[in-house]
Formats: sequence, structure tokens, C-alpha cells
Amino acid sequence: QDYCNPTGAIRDSCCDVQTVEGVNQAITPILKKLVSSRFFRYYKLNLWKDCPFWPDDGLCMNRDCSVATIDEAAIPLAWRQDALGKVHTVSSSSDLFGVSDTCQYKDQDFCLVENEADTDGVYVDLQQNPERFTGYAGVSAARVWKSIYEENCFNIVHKMTEGCETCNNIMNTGEQKTTTGSSLTPPSLSQPIQNPFAVVPNDRKDLDRLLNDLAEDPDSENEEVCLEKRVFYRVISGLHSSISIHICDEYFNQTTGEWSANLDCFVSRIGSHPERLHNVYFTHTLLMRALVKLSDYLHEYTFFTGDAKEEAETKQLVLDLIENTKACPSTFDERQLFQGQNAQALKEEFKEHFRNVTRIMDCVGCEKCKLWGKIQTAGLGTALKVLFSYEDKSLNAKTNPALFERSEIIALINTINRFSESLRAVDKFRKMYQAKTHPN
Ligand code: FAD
Repeated sequence: QDYCNPTGAIRDSCCDVQTVEGVNQAITPILKKLVSSRFFRYYKLNLWKDCPFWPDDGLCMNRDCSVATIDEAAIPLAWRQDALGKVHTVSSSSDLFGVSDTCQYKDQDFCLVENEADTDGVYVDLQQNPERFTGYAGVSAARVWKSIYEENCFNIVHKMTEGCETCNNIMNTGEQKTTTGSSLTPPSLSQPIQNPFAVVPNDRKDLDRLLNDLAEDPDSENEEVCLEKRVFYRVISGLHSSISIHICDEYFNQTTGEWSANLDCFVSRIGSHPERLHNVYFTHTLLMRALVKLSDYLHEYTFFTGDAKEEAETKQLVLDLIENTKACPSTFDERQLFQGQNAQALKEEFKEHFRNVTRIMDCVGCEKCKLWGKIQTAGLGTALKVLFSYEDKSLNAKTNPALFERSEIIALINTINRFSESLRAVDKFRKMYQAKTHPN
């Protein structure tokens, strides 16, 4: 088996591996500059919320699990707590659907958005806290992953939808098909959150077996699996793969005391499971499509830091990023989803399940892992919101200035960068593998 060397079409998307890699090569240097800009490197979040699903598992005490926070003095003046109290933020608008003091969402949201006015929130410099091996593992980490995969169990059965025939026209067509209404009631958001971990196996082997069952690739199932469920699965599996790739790429060798890429780690966790690798490419195409769909909005958006020159430079980088992303003519066709019977109810269920994935991040027992887990689930949630909550023509920052919180835009770009770096690491591992198996 040719490990580490994916080729060909990416299932459930409209792109192929080679095209995605070509685009990724072009956008890597732009993303590097963007994520080190002042607008994109500082992120405010609350790292100490209680886990809403099960009693605290305790915190990983390894040095590499901790997060270095920064003083407000380091961030742009206009972002500071006092200034935030004075401005009308998106979250204070009247269309909020569900609110608690530290997390909130609107009907359009697929994730719980960090509240920048939260007094328990802290600013983190993302450049100072890279996602890499921390040593967080065992029952706590497995329980979190299990709960995330359990969110992929949908109540609403939906006819399987296939194919991506209309993909080639996706960039040129404005209107989406209208979705059919449904008489089914979506799950009530006022109900208490169900504990997805009602039965907690004590034994690690039981947990592994359960996880294996839950994390089974839908392509290998005999039953028909609807496109929406496959997409949900691919996104969370893609995130899981991407995190594993970063762990293996920046692995701490306890014998030598050095950080380096660990090929065995990559082959065992990712390379020998082609579908896991595939799902990273899939999720990358979905993020690319969301970015392109958001291009008019970002054209009019102010990347506010209070320094006009810096804001203009950041915007130019974002526009360059979009321009280079467009080189891939069609990546993912969101119009194929939520079309059939029960479409609206299915979308509500999908949304609520993804919001639960963001809630589960408060149960991660390692600060650094939680930081990046929160950012990436917020970034993916923002991409899903762009794709499924708005038509192209509503995504305009001039006519609709307050569709996204600043934290959503920051999370989206940083998540794109994480997936982009994963693809670069795959390329590196591929070369390492080839050098090892064909030394001459
Ligand atoms: P795990 O990665 O825990 O996987 C458990 C099981 O899930 C596997 O046995 C397999 O059945 C299935 N599975 C694995 N990958 C996939 C996939 N891509 N698709 C489908 N199924 C899959 N550790 C760090 O060192 N640094 C981090 O930054 C970090 N961030 C984390 C963030 C989150 C949100 C979580 C939950 C954990 C994080 N961890 C991090 C821990 C890390 O993800 C692993 O859980 C840990 O390294 C133990 O790995 P494992 O080999 O036991 O398998």
C-alpha cells in the first residue's frame, strides 16, 4: 500500500488532491504573513468554563499543555475591555437566539461564539502558543473524541443525495435552490443538553472499541448514509486528522529532548488510514469554498487595529489569499446539502450538533489543546455558517455589516492556516516515507 500518497478525486467535494495541493502551495506564504499580523494573532477566549457534560477530568499538568496569556496592554487599544464595553458589538444585537453570560449564538450560528466582552476571557497570542505535541492522551482525550463522534448520530433520516454535477458552475451562479420546509419540529434549544456519555466505560479497551465503532468511515458502512451526515463526519474526522498531523509534525522526542517530525506517528495515526487523510483534504476544500463565498464581505470588511496602514496591509493579504484560492475553480458545492425532504429540520439538527461539538471543547483537559480545539471548531462553525446560513448576495459587509463577530473572522483564517499547514506536513511526511522505503 502506498501510504502517505493520496491522489485523485476528493469524495463529496468537487476537487482533486493535486489541485488542492497546488492551491495550498500558493496560499501558504500569504497565510503565514496573515496569521502573524496583529489582527489575526490575538484571540480572546474563556479557557476555564465548566464542562457541561461530565464532571471535570482534571487538567494535564505537562508544561506543554499550558497556555501563555498576554496582558491587554499588548493588544490594539480599541480592542481592550473598556473600549469593548462602549461599542455596539454584533452580539449585543437583538437577534440573539440563545445567550448565556459567556457563550452565545444566533439562529444562523453553527458554533458558540466567544464573547469578547466576557470578563473571564483572556487574550492569547496564537503565535506564542503553537498547536503541537503536548502529551495529553488517555481516557480524558478519548472521552472527548468519543463525544464528538457521537454528535454524528442524527435523528432525522434523509434520502441519500449523490454527486456534485453542478460544481463546475458554482462560481458563476448566484442563487441557491430554495429548500423545502418541513413539518418536523427541530430539537428544542431550550432543553438541557443531553449527556452524550451516559455510559462511561472505565476500561480503556472498551473506550477504544466504542470509539472505533463511532468513528467508522461512512464509506465503509453498508447502509445508505445521507450526504449531510457524511459531511458532518468528514469535517470532524478531518479536524481530528489535522490535529494528529500537527502532533506528529512537532513531536517531542523524550529520549533526545528534541522537537522533530515523527514519521512512525504519522503512518500509524494517519497514513495507514487513507480515509482519515482524505478527510483533511475534504475539510480543506470546504474551508476554501467558504473563503471564496465570503470574498465580497471581506472586500468591504475593516480589519480594525486602529492603524490605517496596517489595516490596509492586512486587507491586501486577505484579498491576495482569496485571489489565489479562486485558482481552484470549484471545491465544494454547498447547494447539494439540505435539499430533500425534512431539509430545514435536518439543517437545524446539524447546527445544534455542531454547536454541541463547540460545547464539548470546554471538557478538553489540556489548555493548549482546548485553545486550538476552540479556535478550529469556531473556524469550522464559521465556514458552515457562511455556506449554509446565507445566500451569496447577503454576504456583503456594506449592506450587512454585522453578520460575523471579529472572533469568527480570526478563527476562520487561523483554521484555514492550520489545515494548510497540515497539507504541507503531509507533503513532508510523503517525502520522508519515500526516502525511507526507496533510499536510492
Ligand atoms: P486519538 O487521536 O485519541 O483517537 C482515538 C480513536 O479515534 C482512535 O483510536 C481511532 O479509533 C479514532 N480516530 C483517530 N483519528 C481519527 C480520524 N482522523 N478520523 C476518524 N477516527 C479517528 N494532543 C496533543 O499532543 N496536542 C494537541 O494539540 C492536542 N489537541 C487536542 C485537541 C482536542 C480537541 C482533543 C480531544 C485532543 C487533543 N489532543 C492533543 C490529544 C490527541 O488528539 C489524542 O487524543 C492523543 O494524542 C491520543 O491519541 P491516540 O493515538 O490514543 O488516538
